[in-house]
Amino acid sequence: MKLSKKRQLITRSRFLRVKCDDCGNEQIIFDRSATIVKCLVCNRVLAEPRGGKAKIKTEILEIVDNDLI
Ligand SMILES: [Zn+2]
Repeated sequence: MKLSKKRQLITRSRFLRVKCDDCGNEQIIFDRSATIVKCLVCNRVLAEPRGGKAKIKTEILEIVDNDLI
């Protein structure tokens, strides 16, 4: 049970709802983004690509499951 759940989490791509530390803007970003993700409002870097998984550099509010979008 535990193993299958873990595998599901790894293979399924996810989106994260994050809040910009600087301006408070909330936006949805992809957790495996291959490019730098910037805040749409103030251009602050929110995530950087790091070995296939994005390194999130701001506050994560929520993990949004792919199926829910
Ligand atoms: Zn911002």
